[in-house]
Amino acid sequence: MRVEIGRSALELHQGDITDETTDATVNAANSRLAGGGGVDGAIHRRGGPAIMAETDARYPEGCPTGSAVVSGAGDLAARYVIHAVGPVWSGGNRSEADLLAAAYRRCLELAVDHDCRSIAFPSLSTGAYCYPTDQAARVALRTVLDFLRETEEPLRVRFVLFDQGAYGAYAAALEELA
Ligand code: ADP
Repeated sequence: MRVEIGRSALELHQGDITDETTDATVNAANSRLAGGGGVDGAIHRRGGPAIMAETDARYPEGCPTGSAVVSGAGDLAARYVIHAVGPVWSGGNRSEADLLAAAYRRCLELAVDHDCRSIAFPSLSTGAYCYPTDQAARVALRTVLDFLRETEEPLRVRFVLFDQGAYGAYAAALEELA
């Protein structure tokens, strides 16, 4: 599924984010940038040790929830990995939606600042962090659509959803929002 917004585009794709050839690949990181399972495990496995070596050196304090930091992409096809820290779901009354939107927005700003023309996102927070996928999809897509409507730079934003359930949730949310 694909929608165009001015000179930009938003795409939904089912697959593995480590196969992407976008300029930037977003990692679903934790605030210590310590490595983990899910997307993070896949990115470090496929990208090699250079990514962790760089984040350890540049961001010894880690990265706060609702923000993101950038590194090189090691052996991945991307130029950059943007390590985003989404919120852990704890019922919905702890600013989870605001923190999730802030994490997406920071990734988009970093991509533009680094002259990226394309960026691939996983579904942040919906794995180990337990954010309900249908709600996360609405926050993620609304944030990206708002950003693409505001920004001057053309950008291709691709959501790479791992399974059919996640793809379906994002497709339904995009139908509703676009
Ligand atoms: P978080 O800790 O932010 O919840 P996870 O990595 O545990 O992050 O999961 C985020 C989402 O990414 C989940 O929907 C999960 O199914 C999906 N996912 C896991 N591995 C991959 C991958 N290689 N490519 C794309 N999505 C993935």
